[in-house]
Amino acid sequence: MAVRKTKAGDQAEEGSESVDGKAIEGFAALGLQPQLVDTLSQLGYEEPTPIQREAIPPILEGRDLVGMAATGTGKTAAFSLPVIERLASLRGKSRPVALILVPTRELAMQVSEAVHRYGRALNVSVLPIYGGQSFAQQFRVLSRGVDVVVATPGRALDHINRGTLDLRGVGMVVLDEADEMLDMGFAEDLEAILAETPEGRQTVLFSATMPPRIASIARQHLTNPVQIRIEREQVAAGEMPRVRQTAYIVPRAHKLTALARVLDMEAPEAALVFCRTRNEVDELTEKLNAHGHRAEAIHGGMSQEQRDRVMKKLRGGQAELLVATDVAARGLDISHLTHVINYDVPSAPESYVHRIGRVGRAGREGVAITLAEPREHRLLRSIEYLTKRKLEIGRVPTIADLRTRKLELLRASLRETLLAGDADRYRVVVESLSDEFDAVEIAIAAVRMAHEAMGGDVDDGEDLPDASAWAERPSRERGTGAPGGKDRKRPAGRDGDERGPRRGAGARESLAGSTRIFIGAGREAGVRPGDLVGAITGESGISGREIGAIEINDRFSIVEIADDVANQVLESLRGGKIKGKKVIIRRDRGPVR
Ligand code: AMP
Repeated sequence: MAVRKTKAGDQAEEGSESVDGKAIEGFAALGLQPQLVDTLSQLGYEEPTPIQREAIPPILEGRDLVGMAATGTGKTAAFSLPVIERLASLRGKSRPVALILVPTRELAMQVSEAVHRYGRALNVSVLPIYGGQSFAQQFRVLSRGVDVVVATPGRALDHINRGTLDLRGVGMVVLDEADEMLDMGFAEDLEAILAETPEGRQTVLFSATMPPRIASIARQHLTNPVQIRIEREQVAAGEMPRVRQTAYIVPRAHKLTALARVLDMEAPEAALVFCRTRNEVDELTEKLNAHGHRAEAIHGGMSQEQRDRVMKKLRGGQAELLVATDVAARGLDISHLTHVINYDVPSAPESYVHRIGRVGRAGREGVAITLAEPREHRLLRSIEYLTKRKLEIGRVPTIADLRTRKLELLRASLRETLLAGDADRYRVVVESLSDEFDAVEIAIAAVRMAHEAMGGDVDDGEDLPDASAWAERPSRERGTGAPGGKDRKRPAGRDGDERGPRRGAGARESLAGSTRIFIGAGREAGVRPGDLVGAITGESGISGREIGAIEINDRFSIVEIADDVANQVLESLRGGKIKGKKVIIRRDRGPVR
């Protein structure tokens, strides 16, 4: 097997061309056509990620490839872009021309959306096919002909068996998250599907881990594949700055709320907030300003003059947040930074180290905060592995935390005002009221007015569900405040017997038309109702209202889910992990209690 290696940290140097907007040449240099490069530029991508830099050229050459990459590294684009680029040359008598196999319905939709986004300008047609959706609808689109099919193995095989999916024209097959597909028991389905495709096809396999079974699949079904392995830079123990590092596991839909709450809690003096793309930088800056923060955007598409203006605002204290891409932030020197915030987990752990190296300088303590989606927990582990430090998994501040914090800040400001003196002209106001009211009451009213003038309790939303239970790590490794810590774990019954069910999430009512879902983890694994609600809403995208009663037993839990979304939940949770362990998730077969 040919092995190509790269250093993950090898990226454009400070002050390189990338800063003035030419970084997109990075994609053109990989051999992609101008129209695709333009699309990436419009999406705000500034440079290829390490896995993209390594994988795209050999796939474009038509080579088979085995790539080791987790979600969040940019692997979807690493295979989708060359698939799109090669479609024209591979198109023959029948379609689809490319087949991408993924383990879950959610991933099928995500990958399909990505192919659609990247290939829109080139009129690429793509169809996701997964269980739970009507065959007829999928068949209608298939019979019209699509270039790319993104499928879960089970449903792909069902279509093949019904004669509604013809793979004879397939020139490229991608196996995405191959380890997950094997873990979910799809090995035989994969074999059967591959047998339906032409011998001479190109095959690309991505997997987060490389167990022997994956190597065996690669040997059997791939021809002399290029193997992409991103070599890790070594970070010496003494090199890591003194930085308090916390990660929050937050579903995408809640990220902005989570960030706003963490910022309110941390009240940073000057923070650098990293996003992956220019578009995300602009969008987040706008949203943060709408939330009452003073944020400025900086990215590779801005002129030097614009960048200087932004930096001046940050240094002068007119802005407290600088929202940036990695490319734009290289070369910036901000001495008084207190916080680095990763709105997205960086695509390579080495970027994380570079990013957080901007705080904690000269013996000062810095803070690094990372928001990770439940699916990105592997990237957090790679970061821990590289930095040899545990990341504390935090819980997003609750409304009560924020209220307390706000009062604390108010108290500190009052104290400063008292110490500053020079307030005699206000004395007459207090004295004139003191005949009628007690001095403490007058002070309380003044504090209330100050509180309201400072915006009062700005955030009157709901507490976010706790999705941190999906971090794939044993509970004992977690930081304080994480669910399922030792303190919360209940001892097992004496003979290991199941104790009776406890109705969790007391306020949750039974749903009318609902399906009971069995989850193979319960009280003994430290599972709490919030963990289940967080995991279910986070992974499947359904709303908390579609979840009914929750029963937590010693070894398992039962959750009621509205009938019309039950399949969606079952499919998106298949292969999911709770407290680092794979758990069985299925329809409950037991009697209705
Ligand atoms: P993936 O690892 O494929 O799940 O991708 C993670 C995220 O990174 C997705 O939201 C992509 O849109 C984004 N992304 C992929 N490649 C790049 C890039 N070169 N620059 C910026 N963002 C990217």
